[in-house]
Amino acid sequence: MVIKHIELPWRVVIGDGAIESTGEVVKELGLKGNALVVAGKTTLRVGGETVAKELKADVLIIEDSVEREVEKNLEWVKKNFSYIAGVGGGSVIDAGKFLAYNAGIPLVSIPTSASHDGITSPRVSLKGRRPYSVGVHSPVCIIADTRIIRNSPPRLIASGCADAISNYTAVLDWKLARDEKGEYYGDYAASLSKLSARIVMKSADKIKKDVSILVEALISSGVAIGIAGSSRPCSGAEHQFSHALDIICRKPALHGDQCGVGTIMMAYLHKADWEGIRNSLKRVGAPTNARELGIPDEKIIKALVMANSIRDRYTILRGGLKEKEAEELAIETEVIQ
Ligand SMILES: [Zn+2]
Repeated sequence: MVIKHIELPWRVVIGDGAIESTGEVVKELGLKGNALVVAGKTTLRVGGETVAKELKADVLIIEDSVEREVEKNLEWVKKNFSYIAGVGGGSVIDAGKFLAYNAGIPLVSIPTSASHDGITSPRVSLKGRRPYSVGVHSPVCIIADTRIIRNSPPRLIASGCADAISNYTAVLDWKLARDEKGEYYGDYAASLSKLSARIVMKSADKIKKDVSILVEALISSGVAIGIAGSSRPCSGAEHQFSHALDIICRKPALHGDQCGVGTIMMAYLHKADWEGIRNSLKRVGAPTNARELGIPDEKIIKALVMANSIRDRYTILRGGLKEKEAEELAIETEVIQ
C-alpha cells in the first residue's frame, strides 16, 4: 500500500474578536522568535495592525504577484523570521503561504474575507503564463475573526459561498475519473467536500448573519484537500473554466463567482440538479450568468472550449467541447442569451 501523508492545521480559532487572541494562540502553539505580518494595504488597516501589535512583528505589504513577492523577499525572510502571519484575502494569504513554505517556516492564516478556500488549503494559486496551483504546507493555524469577515464586502462573501458550492461538481468529476479512468478517489475527502457545498446551499439565507457557516465550509474544503493530498475534491471542470477565463479576460471576475457559473454548466453536463445549484447561487447573491459576471458571451464560449486543456485532469469535459457544443451549453443553462 502507498504511504499517504495528510496535512492539517493544528488549530482553528473562529469567532467575533478572534484576532485579538492571536498573541495568546501563537504562544500556546509554541511558535517562537520573530514574526512577520504579511498583509495588503487595506487588510493592514482591517486586521494587520492588530496582529502586528499582538506579535510585535514586522510588516510586509504585498503589492506584486505571489511569485515576485517570494523572489524579492525570500532571503530577507529566511534570515530574519521564524514564522509568518498572513492577514488578508486570497492573494495575500497565498503570498504568505508561499513565502513561508519556501523559507521553511510555519504560516498562521488570518483571513479578513472569505472569498475562496485558499485561505485554509495547503495549496497556492500562481498566475505564471498559465494559472496553476502548487502544493505547499497547510497553515499551522487559522484565526478567522467573524466580525471582520462579516464586515468585508458582501460580494466577497457571495463569492466564497460560490466557491464552496463548486465542490459539488468537483466531486462529481472526481467520481467520474475513478469510474472511467481508475483514478484514486478518497471517500472521506469527497464526502467532506460535498458536505461543505451542501451546508452552504442549505444555509444560503443564514450566512449573511452567521458568516461562521461559510468560514467552516471553506475550512472543511481546505481540510478535504489536505486529506486527499490534491485539490481534486474542490476543483474540477468548473475551476478549469474559471482558470480559462483568467487567461482570456483582461479583467476576470472573482474566482468563486466564475467557478459558481462554471458549476451550473458542468452540473448540466453531469445531468445533475443544475437549476438547484443556480437557485442556491442566486440566494447567496452570487452571479449566475455572463452579464452578472461582467464577461462578454463570446469569452464564456471560448473559456468553455479551452477549459479542458488547462490541466491534465479528467473531468466531465472529457475530450473537450467544440464551439457549437459550448454555445449550446451556455444557452441551455441561460448563462448567455
Ligand atoms: Zn476555488
